[in-house]
Order: sequence, then structure tokens, then C-alpha cells
Amino acid sequence: MDSNDLTRSIEKSMKPYRGKFPTFTQLPTDGRAREEILQDMRAFYKLEESKWKDGYVSGTVYNGDQDHIDFLNEVYAINSQSNPMHFDTWPSSVKFEAEIVSMTANMLGAASTEDEISGTVSSGGTESILLAMKTYREWGRVEKWITKPEMIVPTTAHAAFDKASQFFNIKAVRVPVGKDFRADVEATRAAITKNTVVIVGSAPPFPHGIIDPIEELSELAREHNIGFHTDACLGGFVLPWAEKLGYKVPPFDFRLPGVTSMSADTHKYGYAAKGTSVVLYRGSNLRRHQYYMITDWPGGLYLSPTLAGSRPGALSAACWAAMISIGEKGYLEATRRILQTADLIKKAINDIPELYVFGDPLFNVAFSAHDLDIYAISDQMEKRGWGLNGLQHPPGIHLCLTLRHTQPGLSEHFIVDLQDSVKWVQQHPNQAGSLGPVYGMASNIALGGAVKDILRDILDIAYSA
Ligand SMILES: *Cc1c(COP(=O)(O)O)cnc(C)c1O
Repeated sequence: MDSNDLTRSIEKSMKPYRGKFPTFTQLPTDGRAREEILQDMRAFYKLEESKWKDGYVSGTVYNGDQDHIDFLNEVYAINSQSNPMHFDTWPSSVKFEAEIVSMTANMLGAASTEDEISGTVSSGGTESILLAMKTYREWGRVEKWITKPEMIVPTTAHAAFDKASQFFNIKAVRVPVGKDFRADVEATRAAITKNTVVIVGSAPPFPHGIIDPIEELSELAREHNIGFHTDACLGGFVLPWAEKLGYKVPPFDFRLPGVTSMSADTHKYGYAAKGTSVVLYRGSNLRRHQYYMITDWPGGLYLSPTLAGSRPGALSAACWAAMISIGEKGYLEATRRILQTADLIKKAINDIPELYVFGDPLFNVAFSAHDLDIYAISDQMEKRGWGLNGLQHPPGIHLCLTLRHTQPGLSEHFIVDLQDSVKWVQQHPNQAGSLGPVYGMASNIALGGAVKDILRDILDIAYSA
């Protein structure tokens, strides 16, 4: 495949509506009829709904029950004009956000420590991580006179940490993970310098789902008076309930004295609508390093807690409503269903002789093949409608289980398709799988030229009308 073919194939999958629906490259002179707009919206919805609703994708939609969606939509509609930046106009938004933070903190060990746990609501896991890393940079500068800050990050930690390193000019020191896919404690110890402001661990990391040794890593940080961030974007709303259900969950939250901050995504297993997450800190001092203020702007005194200025109060309202409508019992039951399904799928994958699961993850199951091309298997799964995540270093594929996968018959269907895909690949040994798994895309993309150029092309295509 040359790069033109590649561009064409990306365009084909990203722009299926060209020629089938009206395209607007400039504003229509007369506004379009609302009913026509709604008709097209409903058509898009219909075309796109089955893929996520029927449980064919990894992660992505974590709840998706129709009555839950309807309820969140109603909450959104009531609050669609609200903006927590204008806290005098919408004190309700301020209340929702304070309580989201408090409920999340208490779920993650705040009740078991003397320290106050503070935090803010953000727009997603990436923003929570960006904010935490920016906070440690400021903390290091103000309190430790560190002008060349460094963060120590396991290779499996989310790409958002690398983004933070680039955005905020913090040197990211990458430490390898061991054969068990957990962050290497000794390599981390060796990587600490006088410029280290924070050590990172994930509970669990996205790729293989194996929780890092948070206890050892956070103690290491504490010994050196360095911050420690647990990225529980994925696990924050699962692990506390998994523990209550009797699953083996290593300590990862504020019950560990060395953990000084955490990220937990309400818009994943918190079952809120997309667009919210929580970042938490031990004490109230660290959070102050996150805030932004300017006192001499002609527009007046200005303050904001996070990256955005104006913020969608309706999303915080929907998040708050999701949390209190589900409650402890609801989260416990959801987790029970997801983990039971994960157990079933893990066992079934390991029962296919050609395949093996990487380690023993709780709910995001990554696996590979002994002597077959795992990307070819992934391509076959895609042909059967499945959107799995491709992994690299080492090659693998990944199914992040959500409530969508607990629908009756779904795990059995997944396994049958997986067995068929393995058989197909065995019978077609010369059909190489496409290479280059792209996060967030179902397909693996064959890589011809410089990989970063192709990734840039993908974003350029996305923004072409
Ligand atoms: C999803 C995820 C993130 C980032 O979250 P976004 O909401 O996509 O920005 C960070 N860390 C882990 C482990 C995740 O799974």
C-alpha cells in the first residue's frame, strides 16, 4: 500500500457520509429547517448505533442502557445553558462539582485518611492528567526550586502523560515494565534525580490492564518527598467495588500515604456522559498549584480551576445525576456483571490453544497469539464486526469490557468469532495482518512512510469537510 492508497482508505472509513448527506463548508444563507436537521441526526444515529450498543467495541460506551441515556439526556436538557464559571448565576453547577469531587474522593480512600482530599472536575482523563502534571511542575518550582522538572512514567502509562510532558515542558523519564507488565520499582528508584517532581503509576494502565505496584512506587516517592500520581482513569470506578466483591485488588488509592494525587474518569465506569473526569489531591495545598488567576487584566479579576474557561455545567449536572442515581449498590452490581463476563472471556481465550491472555487483568483483557499474526486475527475480528484495540510492544489486541458486553449471549458470540478468526488465519498463513494499531480506531493501518506523518494526515483528513 503506498501513501495515496493509505490516505484513500482512511478517508473512506472516516468520511462515509460524503455525497450521501448535505455538506456545509460555509454557513447556509437561510437557516436550515430544524426538522430536516433532526432527520439527518437521527439517520446518523441509526447508522452508528448498533456498533457500540450491541457491544462490538472495546471500551468506548461504558453503560449505554437506554433508560440511563434517556435520564442523562433529560438532566442535560434542563441544564444546557449552565456554566460553572458564572457561579453567581448557576450555584447549582458549583454544588454538583463539589459533590462529584467529594463522592469520588470518599470512594477512593479519603474516608480512611486524616488528610483532606481535594480536587476538581475536568473534561476527561487527559485533562485530569495534564492538570496533575502541571500542578507538580508548579509545586516543584515554588516549593523545591526545581527549574528543570522531571516526571517518572512507566512505558505503559497513558499517552496523556507524554502529552503533559510536551505541553508543559516536563522531562518524561520512561521506565520499562517487567515481564509481568507491571512498572519496574528498581528502575524507578534508579531514575529518581534531584529534579524529579512526580512518579506515576496506573491502576490499571490501558494496554494490558495489570495494576502497577502502587504501594512500592508511592512509598518510594514518599521517601524522597516527591509527588505520586495514581492514574485510575480506567479503574477508579471499578476497583473499589471489585475489592468489595472479593476480587484481589492491590492497594492503589489514598489509603496509601504516598499517593498524593489521582485521576478517575466519571465518563468511563462512572457512567456519566462523555466529558467529565475528576482529579484529586492529598491536602488542599497541591490543588492551589493547579489554579489559574490574573489580577490586572482589564476584563477584571479572573480565576479558573482547570484548563478551560467557560465549561459545560450540563455535563457536570449529568455526571452528578449519574452518580447519585446509580449509588453504591448500582456500581457494585455493574462491577459484578462486568467482572464475571471478564472472567468468562479470559478463560475462553486461554482455552484457545493458539492464544494467551497477557497476565491476569481484571476487566481490560489483552491477548496475543503464540505462532500466528495477532493483527491478522484482529483484521478477521473486524470483518466480523468487532472493534478491538490494537497494541504494540509487544503486539496484541485488547477488549476493554463494559456493561455493553454483559448482554446475554455476547461473550459466547465473541468467543465463537475469535475461534473462527484463529482458524481462518491458520488456513491463510500468507495473509499478513495490517500493521500499526491506532488508538481509538478499529482498524490497524498499514504503515508505509514515516509514521508520525501518517498520523498527522489522519488528523488533517478528520478536519476536511
Ligand atoms: C482513558 C484513559 C485515560 C485518558 O482518558 P481520556 O478520557 O480519553 O482523556 C488515561 N489513563 C487511562 C488508564 C485511561 O484508560
